[in-house]
Amino acid sequence: MTGDRPGKKDAPIDLRRLDITSGGGAQVDVVTSLDGMIMGAEEYVPVPAEVEARIDVSSSGSGVGLRLRLATELRGPCQRCLADATVRVDVDTRDFQAGGRDLVEDPDPDLDCEYLIGPAKQELDVVAWARDAVVEAMSMTILCRPDCAGICPSCGTDLNAGSCNCTEETTDPRWAALGDLAARMREDSPDEA
Ligand SMILES: [Zn+2]
Ligand SMILES: [Zn+2]
Repeated sequence: MTGDRPGKKDAPIDLRRLDITSGGGAQVDVVTSLDGMIMGAEEYVPVPAEVEARIDVSSSGSGVGLRLRLATELRGPCQRCLADATVRVDVDTRDFQAGGRDLVEDPDPDLDCEYLIGPAKQELDVVAWARDAVVEAMSMTILCRPDCAGICPSCGTDLNAGSCNCTEETTDPRWAALGDLAARMREDSPDEA
């Protein structure tokens, strides 16, 4: 294991230089840059802009297993009220490169790791993998707090700060109609039907 050997920032990890024997493995810690992530029309910015990522590489008879772990925080607008929100993102993801497929002409997503680059497909592009993995891990609702009340769709009042006068009227009219119908069905008088 080489967990105490930090890699160079943003440089791809050349798997050949890890000198892994079949059945063996290596662990590499690298500092990687993370760009802002666009979700919907909003940008979510990693804080800090660089994170330490841990890469595990393991070799087996069938190929090379890759594991990426990192943790970061992203800041951007709450998806309900647009106030500043921070979301923690933990990444723990794996990929695989099947053996005997060097210099692949026709990549197969089941057999080939798309983050292996370079002429021999032996250099792991940690920056690209980390970016995609963070986007995947953050595809959830981003809120300033779990019970954010959002903004009134009628008048724009921030309902976290207080209610507005149109709260009653924002009931979906379709549900209101169903409520009326249910009330009528509960009536005993056949005249109401
Ligand atoms: Zn909010
Ligand atoms: Zn309102």
